[in-house]
Amino acid sequence: STAAAAPSVRAPLPVLGQDVTVPLVTGGEVAYAALDYAASAPALQRVWDDVAAYAPYYGSVHRGAGYLSQLSTDLFENARRTVAEFLDCRTGDQVVFTRSTTDSLNLLAAALPDGCEVFVFETEHHASLLPWGSPHAAGRRGSNARVTYLDAPRSPRQAVETLERALADRDPHGPALVCVTGASNVTGELWPVRELAAAAHAHGARIVLDAAQLAPHHPVSVRDLDVDWVAFSGHKLYAPFGSGVLAGRADWLREAGPYLAGGGASRTVTRRADGGVDVEWHEGAARHEAGSPNVIGAHAVASACKALTEAGFDALVAREEELIRVVREGLADVPEVRFLSLFGDDAPRVGVLSFVVEGWNGSHFAAALSAEYGIGVRDGLFCAHPLVRTLLGGDPGTRGECGAPGAAPGGKSFDAVRVSFGAGTPDEHVERFVRAVR
Ligand code: PMP
Repeated sequence: STAAAAPSVRAPLPVLGQDVTVPLVTGGEVAYAALDYAASAPALQRVWDDVAAYAPYYGSVHRGAGYLSQLSTDLFENARRTVAEFLDCRTGDQVVFTRSTTDSLNLLAAALPDGCEVFVFETEHHASLLPWGSPHAAGRRGSNARVTYLDAPRSPRQAVETLERALADRDPHGPALVCVTGASNVTGELWPVRELAAAAHAHGARIVLDAAQLAPHHPVSVRDLDVDWVAFSGHKLYAPFGSGVLAGRADWLREAGPYLAGGGASRTVTRRADGGVDVEWHEGAARHEAGSPNVIGAHAVASACKALTEAGFDALVAREEELIRVVREGLADVPEVRFLSLFGDDAPRVGVLSFVVEGWNGSHFAAALSAEYGIGVRDGLFCAHPLVRTLLGGDPGTRGECGAPGAAPGGKSFDAVRVSFGAGTPDEHVERFVRAVR
């Protein structure tokens, strides 16, 4: 139901859904507390309004001569420019609209030069761990990449040293790519992206930043971090589902065949005398955007980029740090709660915290938070099975699917609970969470 509005105290930017009420098993109902921003953040009201404002002007991009088609084309290409500004891209960088971070990284994987070496920490989300040289991509460009999985570091400095050691052994003349996340979707911890980029470049490798968790919470400057590509998802950046971005160097993308074959990606198609067809593909972003693009998705992402820039990341970061403090201090004297971290409990992080509760299976704990308190969190292994195994120091059961929880015999937790928040989170949601856990 959408009854009385929930208090929205001190949320820097209004989001949708704060007036949704949910029933409790204990009777009555309560305003839903969405504390799962790391999975999908609620869309900003401003983004929703911008999308609605465009709705009457629906037209197909790039192809139609009609006025509304031209308007759509402008909207789409302006969105590209807005995203390039948001990411502080270099001249000549390309912004390709995709479906998601997963899609963006698979696109880059399909554009790797022949014989590319890929270096990736085992701690990555599956979206950045699995696309490289995967058997599923046999025969495709990039599918013969040799992938080196690096052990989980226990400090940012160790991350850089681990990468440097791995890169030192490689042939500096061959192509190589490092893939690293900017902020962990499990621990929220910030990774030393600038230092990792410097290490990669010193050894002739390139680097792609998985900014799915970083971009909604911290400014990302391609120029300043000196990364070659960056990927993020609209639905984690306060825009609706279905749109993502891959931005960065144009050369590998231009040299690769189109990610999808079809209209929009092809410049000319001619029938040959022998009966086959010759295709000349576009060279710009359109090369990898075959089919009718998600104009509304791109527009929504651009709107979210503008809203975050206008709100100011300093304020957004300060707010998240305050909420992290409320959770940590509120649970500091609960010995059964253990937070998960690679770099230490006080390491800088975005508004993402995972923890285990002694004697509880994470999925049961999360279900209780939902049923008894109307709080939505995530439980399981968070599509980062190797990382969560390392953090739990055991061998969690895996039932196969992304968030698969294990059993908790004898009180040992084999899966974790994750609470995450951001721009629209009111004080009351986090305070209720702390009360509920206690
Ligand atoms: N990388 C990280 C760090 C993530 O947290 C996620 C989403 N949980 C992804 C990649 C994949 O994003 P998407 O599901 O939008 O493709």
